[in-house]
Amino acid sequence: MEKVPPGVNPTVPNVARVYDYWLDGKNNYAVDRAIVEASNKVLPDAPQMARANREFLGRVVRYLAQSGIRQFFDLGSGLPTEQNVHQVAQAIAPEARVVYVDYDPVVLAHGRALLADNGSTRIVTADVRRPEEVVHHPDVAGFIDFRRPVALLMFGILHHFNDNERPHDVAAYLRTELAPGSYLAMSNFHTPGPDMPEVHAKLSEMERIGQEQVGSVRFRTRDELMAYFGDFELLDPGLVPLPEWRPDGTETAQMADGYHGILGGVARKPW
Ligand code: SAM
Repeated sequence: MEKVPPGVNPTVPNVARVYDYWLDGKNNYAVDRAIVEASNKVLPDAPQMARANREFLGRVVRYLAQSGIRQFFDLGSGLPTEQNVHQVAQAIAPEARVVYVDYDPVVLAHGRALLADNGSTRIVTADVRRPEEVVHHPDVAGFIDFRRPVALLMFGILHHFNDNERPHDVAAYLRTELAPGSYLAMSNFHTPGPDMPEVHAKLSEMERIGQEQVGSVRFRTRDELMAYFGDFELLDPGLVPLPEWRPDGTETAQMADGYHGILGGVARKPW
């Protein structure tokens, strides 16, 4: 990355840019790349985890657009990459509205450039740890109609909330704001715990590196992840390793320990 956008500090590592490097993007600095390289030594298939996450996101958004959803609320959207939510959704339904939310100024700087010509898509800078502010932000409230079904997308965000940042309360608040027939789709870092001690040890080391370098990475248990869905109805095949969610033959399935390190699922708010 050559020019430093306003509000961006290239000497402090940052989650959006670390993830960008895992996806072979160009919007990252040496401090970000150093974390990726340290993490890849512990978990060599970490780049495949990131790739599998983007593929999962694409399959989920395509499925939701095909199911009639026309409003997408993408929290922790990250830097633009291939197959962004608005591109996938609007390829199926050009009128689909998409709001991207991220708290990182680098995301806003790059997102604006990508979205300049698209009246159906907005990008908002806000902190999801304060979900009321996100939902009531004028660029959200005036654009998404929460009385109609919405796809609430939280891919790879809640594992950046520490426990004292109350990720389950944030998810619960957001669920109550959605109309019946809405969907909650998410992916989150996962640990199988003592059932798989060697994998658990590697994921714990990844967590330690993340906590030390960016201040927030948590690998949670299946029960903790299931609780994010509350009383929503989980669609088949449930909360699963990402390549197992409705595969279409294009997904990255060649993974080792990282296969168990991230799970995803989609659930619907009952009518
Ligand atoms: N959702 C994209 C995906 O799955 O491909 C990007 C995931 S990236 C790993 C996580 C993103 O969440 C980063 O861009 C980061 O800035 C954002 N994020 C983390 N905590 C956040 C918060 N409290 N509020 C808003 N965005 C947050």
